[in-house]
Amino acid sequence: MCKNTFFLCNFAHNLDTNSYKRNDIRMQHEHVIIIGSGPAGYTAAIYAARAGLKPIMFTGSAPGGQLMTTTEVENFPGYPEGIMGPEMMEDLRKQAERFGTRIKYEFVVSCELTGEVKKIVTDGGDEYSTDSVIISTGADAKWLGLPSEEAFKNRGASACAVCDGFFFRGKEVAIVGAGDTAAEEASYLAKLCTKVHLLVRRDEMRASKIMQERVKNTANIEIHWNTETLELLGDNVLSSIRIKNNQTQAESTLNVSGFFVAIGHKPNTDIFKGQLDMDDAGYLITKPGTTNTNIEGVFASGDAQDKVYRQAVTAAGTGCMAALDAERWLAARE
Ligand code: NDP
Repeated sequence: MCKNTFFLCNFAHNLDTNSYKRNDIRMQHEHVIIIGSGPAGYTAAIYAARAGLKPIMFTGSAPGGQLMTTTEVENFPGYPEGIMGPEMMEDLRKQAERFGTRIKYEFVVSCELTGEVKKIVTDGGDEYSTDSVIISTGADAKWLGLPSEEAFKNRGASACAVCDGFFFRGKEVAIVGAGDTAAEEASYLAKLCTKVHLLVRRDEMRASKIMQERVKNTANIEIHWNTETLELLGDNVLSSIRIKNNQTQAESTLNVSGFFVAIGHKPNTDIFKGQLDMDDAGYLITKPGTTNTNIEGVFASGDAQDKVYRQAVTAAGTGCMAALDAERWLAARE
């Protein structure tokens, strides 16, 4: 196994838009590099650091990931009173650093994963080589893109019913989308809220038949077909939304305290295209029961490879798995 040392190298990289060649670059060699700093990345860092692997973690452009834009997290085990998302990520950062993780506030712009020695290039222009890579780059929820939606984030608008639905118990809410996530989240919200308005932009849903049936048979879910959201309204916190029927062009107002967007996620995996196996939506494919990707020494964890559960605790779980898989793979190679 390579030692944690410096060496000189010559190689050429092909970036998306241009290619360049750099000679005599001082490149640092690592055992494990972790890309991404959500619950998966930090958990991988804690385990890898405690195993003596001295990992480097690149935080990406949004250190802490999706939880940095969340308010209170009440469903992460171990916090009986709940915890603010940014505070939890700060705790995870400290815990990872306590065991020797080196955190770099840089964004990985390209990588070469196929060779025995993997190469990583950051937006700071630094280049690293490593024996193994743990990918925990996460996924971003898609939003409608309305200016008022941005204004009400954390004040009524949310992209995760399982995370935030509880704050709207006993209230009336709306949810946008027509896929399995929207159907599942509408059913979840119906158990907490007095009424759920499901806003579907077409005259049919994309969700599986069984999920559609469940939604249609739930008394307090009202489906609004051919309906688009125009604006979120309220004085500091959300109190209503303006909607439009795109067939009749009729506009109306719904009085709701919560507005959930469930129109899909985009995994942050573009830089791995052409190297790592991924599904049509870009989620990394791992071998069942492991975090192994199609390339030896490259492991995937968190939302970048999970389109079903997408919870902080499941991301942390797969981060732990990735570190253990990497540790065992490195040991077997040695
Ligand atoms: P999908 O891409 O399947 O569905 C997105 C939905 O959002 C579509 O119905 C789409 O409408 C709608 N949509 C997109 N943009 C807009 C917009 N601007 N305004 C209004 N509506 C919009 O995403 P999901 O997150 O639902 O599912 C992703 C994957 O995860 C799927 O493969 C799904 O099966 C899977 N999944 C599985 C679960 C399970 O097995 N328990 C649970 C959750 C997800 P339109 O149909 O008109 O394009």
